[in-house]
Order: sequence, then C-alpha cells, then structure tokens
Amino acid sequence: MNFIFLFCLRFCLLLSLWQFAANAAPNSIDIKTDDTKINLAKHIQWIVAEDYIQLSGVQNLTGWQENTIVEPLLEHQNLWGRITLNFADEINQPYFLSIGNPALDLVDIYFLDDKNRILSSSLMGAKRNLSQRPFNHRLFITPIDTHQQSITIFLKIKDQGPLVFSIHASKQSYILQEEQILLAAIGCISGGLALLACYFLISYIIVRSPIRFWFALSSASFVLLFLNTSGILSQITGITAYITQTSLVLIGILILTSSKVAFSLLQGVPPIWRYVFYCIGSSMFAVAVVVPHSEQISFTLGLCISAILLIAILAIFYHKADNKFVNIVSLLGLIFIVFSGFSQIALFFSHIALAQNQSLLFASLIMFGIILMAIAIEAHEKMLNNGHSVKQQLTTSNLQHFYNLFQNSAEGLYTSTLDGQLVSINPAMSSLFGYDNDKQMLEEINNASQFYADPQDRDLLLGEIHQNGKVMGKEIKGLKKDGSEFWFSISGQIKEEQDQRYVFGSIFDITERKQSVISLEHMASHDPLTGVYNRREFEKLLSAALKKAPQAHHDLALLYMDLDQFKLINDTCGHKAGDLLISQLSHKIDQVVTGKGILARLGGDEFAVLLEDANAQMAYLLANRILNVVAEFRFIWENSIFTLGISIGQVSWQPDITTPEQLLSMADSACYMAKERGRNQIHTYSQEDKGLRKYESELFWLNKINQAIEHNQFELFYQHYLALNKANSGHHYEILLRLKEPDGQLVAPGVFLPSAERFNLTAKIDRWVIENYFNWLSNNPQHMTALAKVNINLNGHSLVDKELKLYVLNAFEKYQIPHNKVCFEITESMAILKMDEALEFINTFNKLGCKFALDDFGSGFSSYGYLKRLPVNQLKIDGSFVKNILIEPIDMAMVNSIKDVAKAMDMETTAEFVESVDVMVQLGKMGIDYAQGYGVAKPCSLAKFTAL
Ligand code: GH3
Ligand code: MG
Repeated sequence: MNFIFLFCLRFCLLLSLWQFAANAAPNSIDIKTDDTKINLAKHIQWIVAEDYIQLSGVQNLTGWQENTIVEPLLEHQNLWGRITLNFADEINQPYFLSIGNPALDLVDIYFLDDKNRILSSSLMGAKRNLSQRPFNHRLFITPIDTHQQSITIFLKIKDQGPLVFSIHASKQSYILQEEQILLAAIGCISGGLALLACYFLISYIIVRSPIRFWFALSSASFVLLFLNTSGILSQITGITAYITQTSLVLIGILILTSSKVAFSLLQGVPPIWRYVFYCIGSSMFAVAVVVPHSEQISFTLGLCISAILLIAILAIFYHKADNKFVNIVSLLGLIFIVFSGFSQIALFFSHIALAQNQSLLFASLIMFGIILMAIAIEAHEKMLNNGHSVKQQLTTSNLQHFYNLFQNSAEGLYTSTLDGQLVSINPAMSSLFGYDNDKQMLEEINNASQFYADPQDRDLLLGEIHQNGKVMGKEIKGLKKDGSEFWFSISGQIKEEQDQRYVFGSIFDITERKQSVISLEHMASHDPLTGVYNRREFEKLLSAALKKAPQAHHDLALLYMDLDQFKLINDTCGHKAGDLLISQLSHKIDQVVTGKGILARLGGDEFAVLLEDANAQMAYLLANRILNVVAEFRFIWENSIFTLGISIGQVSWQPDITTPEQLLSMADSACYMAKERGRNQIHTYSQEDKGLRKYESELFWLNKINQAIEHNQFELFYQHYLALNKANSGHHYEILLRLKEPDGQLVAPGVFLPSAERFNLTAKIDRWVIENYFNWLSNNPQHMTALAKVNINLNGHSLVDKELKLYVLNAFEKYQIPHNKVCFEITESMAILKMDEALEFINTFNKLGCKFALDDFGSGFSSYGYLKRLPVNQLKIDGSFVKNILIEPIDMAMVNSIKDVAKAMDMETTAEFVESVDVMVQLGKMGIDYAQGYGVAKPCSLAKFTAL
C-alpha cells in the first residue's frame, strides 16, 4: 500500500517538474547543414492568450503545450507558438520560415536571441497589406537569421477559422527549388483545367450544348478555387483579406454548375431536385457573407456532403442505363473528385496540415477526376449526336414518306395563308379542279376563294374553323377551271408554322352522292311523271302560304283541275299513252302557270295551281288560259289525234280557312261542280257546292241507286228533238233519267252514273228505264200512237250484259212496243271501246227495226275510222262543238265535217246543246237534221208530257 502511495507521489512530482520544464523554455531543435526542410509543427509549443498580452507577457506564461490547438480562437484571443532553433556552425545559407495557410488573418513572427532580445519581426497576415510581407509570396515566408547560434521564434496567429496550417523551416536553396516545382505543378493543374474549360466553352458556342457550358463553368470555378486556396489568386490581385469568402462563393458556384452537369448526364430527374441544388449552391453564398468565421467550415462541409450524397443517390436512380461507358467514366471521375475532396477535408478537420506538395497531389487527383468527367461528357455528347442523326434520318425519311402520301393522296390537299394565298397543293387537288398539273393551278389561282362557286363560302368556312378549331366534311359547291360547278366535301384546320398561320385543307369530290341526294330530295317533292310538284309538297307549300297570308294581307287563290274523260285515253290507248298525255299536257299548263303560281299534280289526272298574292279575277284569268291551252292541245297517238277538256274549280282564300285540307276540299268541290255543269269549264266555289260534293262518295251512290231501283225513286224525263229540215211527224224526244231525293230534289245521271258504272249497276238502271218507259207507253196508247221516235240511252257498260239484251227483247214483247219507234243512244267512246258487244247488240235490234244513235260524237275521238264499222243511223254531235258554233269557226267546221261524213254514210245528225234560235237556224242551214237543247225545249218530267 505504502509502495503504491509513494509511486503516485513520485509520478505527480515528475509530472509537475516536466510541466515546469515545458513552460520554462521553448523546445529547441538543432539544425544541421544537411537539413533542408524541417517540419517545425511537431516541435512548436502552443498557448492561447488574450489579446492584451504582448510578447513579453507571453514569454512568462506557463501552460505551453506540445500539441496543436484545435479549438477555434475567440475574437479576443491569439494563438502563440514558440520554438528555439540551434544552428550548426557550418551553416552558410539563410533559412526561411514558411507558414502554409494563406488565409490566416494575422501572422506575427518574432525572432529572439538567447537573451530574449528581439532580433527581428515580421508582421504578416491575410488581413494585412501584401507589401508588408518580407516577400511578395502567396504564403507567409520570412527569413531566419542564421548568424545566431540559437534563435527563438515566437509566432502570434489571429484567426477565427480552423487553425490548420503547416510550418516549416527551409534552406534558401531548397525553398527556391521547391517553389519552382510547386509553381510548375500549380501551373500544370490550373493551366490544364483552364484549357479544358476554354475548350468546353468554345465548343459550347459552336454546338450550343448546355452541358458544355456548365462543365466549362464548373472547371473554371474549380481552377479559381484551387488558385484561391493556394493563395495565388490573392497574390495576383493583391487582395488577401477575402480568401475564405471567395473560396466559399467559388464552392457555391462549383455546386451549382456541377449539379447542372450532373443533371444533363442523368435522365428524367424530377425538377424538384434541381431546385434543391439551387438552394444548396446559393446557401454557400449566404455562408460566405452571413455565417461567423468560426462556423463557416462546418456549414460548408455539411452543404458539400449533402450535395455529393444527393448527386450519388440521383445517379443511382436516374442514370442512363443504355450508356455504360459514360456511366463508368463519370463514376470514376466522381470517385476521384470525391475521394480527393473528402480526404483534404478530413485531414483539415483532423488538423493535419498538408504540405503544399501534398495538397497539390490531391488537387491533381481532382484534376484527373475532372478530366474523366470531360471524357464522359464528350462520350455522352457523341451518343446524343448519334441519336440526333438517327432521329434526323428518321425525320427525313418520315418527311419523304409524308411527301409521297401528299403527292399520291386521292384526296385533294392544299395549304393556304389565312388571306387565301395558295402555298401548296397536291396533284389530286389540281385534277379535281380541272387543271393539268399543280404548277398550273398554283399559277392561275390567285386566291383560295376561287375554289368556291360562291366565294363567300370561304369566309363562312373560315368563320367556322375559327369558332370550332376545325371543320369536318363540310359540303360546298366548287368551281372548276372551265367554270363548271361540282360538289366537294372539305375538312380543314388552322395551324401555326414559323409564326405564320396557315389553312390546311383536304377536299374530295362528292358530286355523284350529292346529286343522288338532290335527286332523292327532288323525288320526294316532285311528281316523277310530270316533274311538277307532288301533292305532299303542294300541301306543304299551301300550308306555308296559308300561314303567311293573314300577316301579309295577301290574297290567295287555288285552282283544282281534273281532265275530262281521261279514262278513255287509258282504256283505248293504254296507260302508256295516258302517261304521255299527262306529261305533255302538264308541260303545257306549266308554261302558262310559271311565274304566276305553283303547279302540282295531285294524282291521276288532277292538277292544282296555287296563286299567292292573286285575287279572284287574276285566278280566273289564269284558269281561262289553262282551259284554252288544254282545248288547243292535240294528243297524237298511233295515227289518232285526240282533243281534251279540263274542268277547273276555283276558290279564293278567306280568313276562316286555316288548313290546306279545307281549301283543297273546297276547290275539289268547285271542280266537281264544273264537271257537273258539263265539264271543260271553270267553276268558282260557292257554299252550295259543298253540299253537292257529298254525292261524290261512291258508296253513297251504291246504296242510293239500289234503293232507287227497288223503291222506284227514279223519274223519267224527256227532252224534245226538233226536226230542222222537215216537219215533225210525231213526238220525237230523248228519255232522260233523274233521281228523286226524299226532299224532292232531282239528281242528274252525271252525278251517280260514274258510281253506277264502277259497281256495274248501269245495266240495272237501263233495265229500269226501259221497263218503266215501256210500261208508261203501254199505259198511254195515244201517246204511243203519236210517238214518232224515242231515243233511249244505253250505257256502254250495259252492252256487255248478255241479260240486258234478252231483257230488252222481252220488254218489247211484253209491252208491245213497235221496234221502229225506238232509237238506242250509245256513247261513241263506249261503242268503240266495246266494239264487239256493241256490234252484236246493234245487229240484233237493227234486225228488229230499232235505230241506233252515237251519242257525244266528236267529244274525244276522231273516230271516223270506227264509224264505218258501226251500223248506226244517227250521230249526235257533241254539245261542245255546238254551243259556240256562231262564234267559233272551227266548231262550225267540225260540225260541218261531221254532218258531211254522216250524210255520206246515210246517217242523220242531231246537234246537242242548242241553246238559241240563232244556233238552231244556223244548224238548219248547215243541213243538220235535228236539234236538241234548251233552245228547243228543256228536259221535263214524262209524267207531265207536253208536245213540242
Ligand atoms: P272525268 O271527266 O269525270 O274526270 O272522268 P275521267 O275519265 O277523267 O276519270 P277520273 O278523272 O275520275 O279518273 C282519272 C283516271 O285516270 C283514273 C285512272 O284510271 C287514271 N289514272 C290515274 N293515274 C294515272 C296515271 O298515272 N297514268 C295514267 N295513264 N292514268 C292514270
Ligand atoms: Mg278526269
């Protein structure tokens, strides 16, 4: 136990003695002749003292320590160092003390002799003027007086940054030699990197590749950083006070530019990371200006490490996998740079001050890394260029491809400026518009509006493009070179190219389709046979006109027309002839109507004319012209000529008529009335017409006729014949039929006979007439005696009825009627139509002494040819020739010609419709045998018979 205690006591004593000895005098080293460079850092003793303590005070201080002091100095503190150098006798060369950190703020060096007297001093430092230094050198170098055997050096350093610096005593010859080598090395490194920077800058100007610019900038900033940290920059500029700040700013620039280079080498790095690097780089500027000197190193270190780590991480994720060479070389470069940079920083932090040649070695490693990066960039650029040229080739071949498509497209393609200047067209376009080639079209078309039949269509098209961005398949009428029109479908849009806006359009011909659509539309609204409007369209137009009329205070009139006896043409010549007649006649009528109204074929032989803004008088005039046109019309079919009549119903619009149906039905009734009144005339609608119209219903008549036959609702009428050229030898009249309505009204056969014909009731009616008349005759024997001749109508349809013949034969027998007193009238047309049946009938009764008359002769057929075959005794000239015989020379000629033919064939002639004595006289003069009509006597009931 005692032993341990004694040992501890002795150890403490020794320690305190050693301490005392350490504080007593500075460490001393012997310098021999062959010592060229001595690292004093290992031998110097250090102490931190307050500002106010001067050299004399420091000399007396205790607590000097052997190890370098690492804690940064406070603002009011200085770091003091001391050492004694003992020179050997033979030393004949000056020695120099050099401190290897050009950034130290203040460096005071005092040389003292063995009696502690100051021999000399050097007051240097970055914060002091360069001229104060013994040598205009980047480092702090001062000569050591070697004449003294022993010399004590006191160092005073003031700096709040890291206290890392080398300190050497070097022989003059050595220092010169070393300086030469160092300068050469610095020159090599900085010169090499500067050249590299210049190369990349120039190549950037030529090829405009941003990566080159940023690499040039980062190389340049590294050179500057290198020159700054080695003190050369401040030596050149003479400004030594801001070495640290300059370095920090340069590091900031280095981070920014290097990150730019890295991003160019990587692929698809999210933009956020760029901003992170901009922040790190600009933070360095803030560190240089704002952060206290003592903190700057840790900030810088933190920012640099983060930047390097970030780059490394991003490189892992976003490197271009397809370019291994670039990746490997740039990775190597990065490793060199990072290794060298971090080694220096690590050594710096470990307070191991590197000698200049050592830090140059690290700098050259960084340079090597930078060169590797340059190689990687070159390879990267080359690869990009290859990619570009491949892309360019692809683009060229695509362009060629599109050009071929453009040239060979079946669609017309064109480009024009907005104001219509044609820029380009393809061959399809020129042939579409009838030009020989695209060149010719480009020369001859001044403006794209020439494409359009209506030049305004282009403005409308552009308007639509502006509104909707594009136009698809707009159908427009175009104009060819030769002035002909055609339809095209156009699609177009506006695109911007080199700051100019162009219209890109494609066009194809749709004329055929358009025409078929147009013809479909036409078909839907027009009658295919005549080309005039059809009923559907007419009703539409009528409806529109009716809507318009009340507001416009327009008159509106409608003509409803139906050809007379048209069926006969169909029946005798066939439907083909009927069609031809309708089409020819409608053409004639259309010529009259055009410009005055709208003509439509409502169906069959019915037509209508709509007259807008025309009063009743104007409508009547037009109806009259139509009537004349139809009358003058001659239809020629297989050597036969036919004349025709038309019945026209006219109606004027009244404000209470609102629907087309109403007006059409009124006009129809009026037309019906025109038929009723003898056909081939105009009838203007009146209220009563509507009532009569109801008889038109065929079913109505079917019942009515059957009823009338059953209940004897028919009444026999008669109308006298007047012999014009001989004395009347007895009663001579025609038996007529009337239907008695319960109210006593009498209906003419023209009203119900068409229905009777349709339902084969005519034979029944004829039977009724014969039965009743013969009965009446047999009941009036005096009358029978006085009777010269009675004309009884037989319907053409009845002639076919075999039973009728037997019935009539029987009736003659039953009522004992003399055959020679009876003349059967058959209509000319029906006789021709049913020629064989008619012949059989005529022959049978002819033999018995009956006579035959042809009714309505000349009304529709120029049938002299047939006349020869029909053994008839009498011709009844159609009333239409007779009515106007005094004023119409043609009618006169017709009547004359009929009479002549009749005479030649030994036939008697009767004129119908004789309405006046003058006509009667004229007819008599002409040699007509009999006259019948209102002028002679009106039809009368047989029951009230009076002699003529
Ligand atoms: P009405 O004097 O009473 O008018 O007698 P109509 O013979 O002219 O007979 P109606 O007007 O009642 O009938 C017209 C006929 O026209 C009925 C039909 O046989 C015929 N028809 C209808 N459409 C066509 C057609 O397109 N072509 C031809 N050829 N005939 C037609
Ligand atoms: Mg008709």
